[in-house]
Amino acid sequence: MIAAAKKIRFILNLRQSGIIDTTLLSAMENVPREMFVPEAFRDRAYEDTALPIGYGQTISRPRIVAQMIEALDVHDRVKILEVGTGSGYQTAVLSHLCRRVYTIERHRDLLRSAEQQFTTLDRRNITTRAGDGWRGWPEQAPFSHIIVSAAAPDIPPVLVDQLDTGGVMVLPVGDERQEQRILRVVRTEDGFEEQDRGPVRFLPLVEGMPAAATRQAESG
Ligand code: SAH
Repeated sequence: MIAAAKKIRFILNLRQSGIIDTTLLSAMENVPREMFVPEAFRDRAYEDTALPIGYGQTISRPRIVAQMIEALDVHDRVKILEVGTGSGYQTAVLSHLCRRVYTIERHRDLLRSAEQQFTTLDRRNITTRAGDGWRGWPEQAPFSHIIVSAAAPDIPPVLVDQLDTGGVMVLPVGDERQEQRILRVVRTEDGFEEQDRGPVRFLPLVEGMPAAATRQAESG
């Protein structure tokens, strides 16, 4: 199948899976997912599947990216925090939907490669940081929206603290052995309310930065 036909089918599949937000669908049509996957997987970029991106990480499944962004309910006047840049695909989609995306990734090399794609695509409203997403981005807090791309065993309290009152966070919660759920968390005056958006499978939100030695071994 030629590239354009694959992309049309990709968007149709998202619609069929229940994604109805047309602004989101057109953002996903605009961002070339093949630029965010390793060369060896380019021909599979428009399949609805996660693919390896190195360092034991994966680019998330498009349907999950769409469901999480739809649940986040963003608009073009907000700044949002994304934890777990990974390939940068979701970051690029988000950059079409809001004023600015602040994105954190603990693997410097993954972040570097994502940054290169943002430059190539001329996405200018993305600010990146190599760091531990468990700590959020205190200098830029509060955020009206936070999206997390790796699973924490529980809702990280620091991230809830960095939400505005009424702000929304969408994240997978649960450990690798037990079932994980997508949660939609809304910050209230005196705490938060959570809503379960169904089962999911994500890699863990790891605490701290990779050790230098691990980095060398992983990149070899
Ligand atoms: N949305 C991304 C998902 C990448 S996988 C994509 O589609 O490409 C999850 C990413 O979260 C990985 O790159 C992993 O390195 C990163 N991650 C895990 N724990 C983290 C932490 N504590 N801080 C920042 N990034 C983290």
